[in-house]
Amino acid sequence: MKILGCRLDAIDADEATRRILAFAQGASSAHVVTLGTEMVVHAQADSNFRRIVNGSALSLCDTAGLLAVARARGAALKERVTGVELIEHVCAGAASTGIPIFLLGGAPGVASAAAAVLQGRYPLLLVAGSRDGYFNDANSDSVARDIRASGARIVFAGLGFPHQEEWLAAYLPQTGCGAGIGVGGSLDVVSGNVRRAPALLRRGHLEWLYRLIKEPRRWRRQLALPRFVLLVARDGIRSRFTNNGDATS
Ligand code: UDP
Repeated sequence: MKILGCRLDAIDADEATRRILAFAQGASSAHVVTLGTEMVVHAQADSNFRRIVNGSALSLCDTAGLLAVARARGAALKERVTGVELIEHVCAGAASTGIPIFLLGGAPGVASAAAAVLQGRYPLLLVAGSRDGYFNDANSDSVARDIRASGARIVFAGLGFPHQEEWLAAYLPQTGCGAGIGVGGSLDVVSGNVRRAPALLRRGHLEWLYRLIKEPRRWRRQLALPRFVLLVARDGIRSRFTNNGDATS
């Protein structure tokens, strides 16, 4: 389905993992987006970003706002597919099938710490390499070359949006990986650098509130949430007049 012009594949984490492991063994480079509410709002004004999302191999439902809209439009999706859960699921599957992974992103030390945590959890996991996400555009070629040389088949890119989507769109083929997944700040969480919201808040779809309290500087970014609600409401009203209630985008 499309939500405000952005493609969303309403599949759960198990199905997404199956597809990603299949991509990893294939010859082409499949870009996987974990789509968030802020990203959809950003895409309204950034047509290149919207094109990247819509041209990806998979666009997964990462946030409660998108989940609510997808379900209201009939998607049989129970849970969102967060970057952290996706990393866990995919690494579990990669470990049991011998698929090497690469972790890219975060401040220096974060990706290697996340690699150590994942290796502890999945002893058979092959971590082909890791590196921080703070490099100049001029070094992107050599970063992609390093990933290719590592032999990784899946790269998790936690560079923040829209940078990670733009980076994967431009450089994933050069990495030689079968799948590249944008995971935002998930490597910070996996490494233990940043704590996730307590499960109770996550279940109540209040993770955004927890993050706002922990990182007040995010308030400006989080204005995207009420904006998303307004845009979806406007879209719903417009569609009622244009095509008998089917959402327009
Ligand atoms: N980051 C990076 N390179 C950059 C800018 C950011 O690797 O040039 C990392 C940053 O350290 C953090 C992640 O990208 O780990 C962005 O986290 P945030 O929670 O803002 O991501 P979101 O999931 O909201 O996109």
